[in-house]
Amino acid sequence: MKDLFMFMRRFASPYKWNIVWSVLFNFLTMFLTVFSFAFIMPILRILFNLDTTSYVWQDWTEGQFQDVLINNFYWYVTQMIGRMGAIATLALMACALIVATLMKVMAAYMSDYCVIPLRNGIVTDIRNQMYSKIVSLPIGFYSHERKGDIMSRLLGDVGEIEASVAASLAGLVKNPIQIIGYLFVMVVLSWKLTVFVFVILPIAGWIMGSVGKKLKAASLEAQNMLGTILSTAEETIGGLKVIKAFNAEGHMKKVFDSETDTYKKLSNGIQRRWSLAHPMSEFLGTIAVSVVLWFGGAIIISGETAIDAPGFIYYMVIFYSLINPAKELTKVGYTLRKGMAALQRIDKILDAENPIKDPESPEEMPSNLKRGGSVAFKNVSFSYDGERYVLKDIDLKIKAGMTVALVGQSGSGKSTLVDLIPRFWDVAHGTVEVESHPVQSYRVNDLRSVMGIVNQEPILFNDTIYNNIAFGTPGATMEEVVEAAKIANAYEFIMATEKGFETMAGDRGSRFSGGQKQRISIARAVLKNPPILILDEATSALDTESERLVQEALERLMKNRTTIVVAHRLSTIANADLICVLQDGRIVEKGTHKELINNAGVYKHLVDMQNIG
Ligand code: ADP
Ligand code: MG
Repeated sequence: MKDLFMFMRRFASPYKWNIVWSVLFNFLTMFLTVFSFAFIMPILRILFNLDTTSYVWQDWTEGQFQDVLINNFYWYVTQMIGRMGAIATLALMACALIVATLMKVMAAYMSDYCVIPLRNGIVTDIRNQMYSKIVSLPIGFYSHERKGDIMSRLLGDVGEIEASVAASLAGLVKNPIQIIGYLFVMVVLSWKLTVFVFVILPIAGWIMGSVGKKLKAASLEAQNMLGTILSTAEETIGGLKVIKAFNAEGHMKKVFDSETDTYKKLSNGIQRRWSLAHPMSEFLGTIAVSVVLWFGGAIIISGETAIDAPGFIYYMVIFYSLINPAKELTKVGYTLRKGMAALQRIDKILDAENPIKDPESPEEMPSNLKRGGSVAFKNVSFSYDGERYVLKDIDLKIKAGMTVALVGQSGSGKSTLVDLIPRFWDVAHGTVEVESHPVQSYRVNDLRSVMGIVNQEPILFNDTIYNNIAFGTPGATMEEVVEAAKIANAYEFIMATEKGFETMAGDRGSRFSGGQKQRISIARAVLKNPPILILDEATSALDTESERLVQEALERLMKNRTTIVVAHRLSTIANADLICVLQDGRIVEKGTHKELINNAGVYKHLVDMQNIG
């Protein structure tokens, strides 16, 4: 219950008017239900001559209001029968019942109508909160939490909340109101019987609850199994080429079949138990009704209480109506527990702290960085896990407009070094500076706005080429995009596609070759026109022909800005102002191409090796 209040406080406040209206309509529904029954009983009594009292009109002050009301109502009915005849009164009464029922179902519909936006709104809000959190969290977060896991939270756990908490919100408003209304009527009719009812109802509830618990455990297991099946399917589609090449279809099919078989058996058990729940609750309900029938009948026969036979029938009708909302309310109990478990998993992401924060009083990023900005590493050491240092004592000054190349074996820390400049990670020791201020002293957005990054893996989104290029530069005109594409050597092949710049790039840019994708992502950087450019092995994945095209594009891009280029092929960086050789996280050599060749150290060794290869 406490969980529920927390949940509502967090998520339901934008929808409080929906709740208020729904509660009001539910009260209306309850009143109409109770009164439409109450209405018929006395009329039937008089019509069928069970009641032969001759009523006289009483003044409203003569006795207790409710007694006078009932008396005068009866008087009115006898008058009407006298005037119109029994049959016509009956017809009129039937019409009144129809109207009352119409009003009741309309009120019930309106209460649902008001609660539905609450349900869908909450789920949408949670999804959007998750997404904006996922985007804002630093890259470092995703090495701890598997990507698939996060996907399953975004889809599975939010879906779980949708199916459990959100779906039971309507019942949560409706059922208690109905229960309270019915109980009130029951107590008014006969408190003795109602006390008795309270003794037997919990027993029935407990039996139902134990079935529910077993069901919950089994359905959790089934859900996990479904997750396994989905990931196998996903893996299969992703790795279809390998599966076919190694003739492994049979093997994969066997794995998949055994998983679906387990799921089938679990589902059989769950659905059989589900089907058991309904007849069982009906049976238990009937037992409860029968016991009350017997006990109530015994009270009437012994003449101990004020309740009479028609009153008792009315009591039974109301009691029968009570069973359904009571049953649903217990069901809400365990769906809520399931939903809260899902919410806890979601909260692990929503509450995750983002260590890459904006400073309290940020430094303004200078706006005159036209010819590039300066970057400096001062005594920087960095470790991903706090144990093994991937970068050690890095000192490096990069003046505005310089081109600096980083070379070294794979794993020597080049990517890590450049990732520190846009604050993908924060350093533990030393400082990284841009324009003579630590990167942490700028707003993260300001810092990144002066940088362009082109990676080895060009990332395209499933959108038009135009939007892929204009991705980091909202509001770019078509002319500017075309110009950027020309500089990036991408214009020709883009125009050769069927719709030119409006062609869709496909899932992750799958419609283009590696070199083409790279040139589109270079056009993106060209358009952004960043003072500081970071190229991390931008040409490594390319064949010689497209490498030449990309290299040309890059050289145009590198003009007039600070460039840090990580290069695999050393021939591409011979013109750099400064070359740094990284080995095992340290800068072991620094200088121009000529100096380093003359030096005959690590760099020369690397160059020689490549020339042989
Ligand atoms: P390079 O780009 O020179 O090939 P990297 O900077 O990518 O090298 O990696 C340097 C070292 O840091 C490697 O030993 C690598 O295993 C490790 N490393 C890289 N990224 C991570 C990460 N996200 N978490 C933990 N270790 C990492
Ligand atoms: Mg790298």
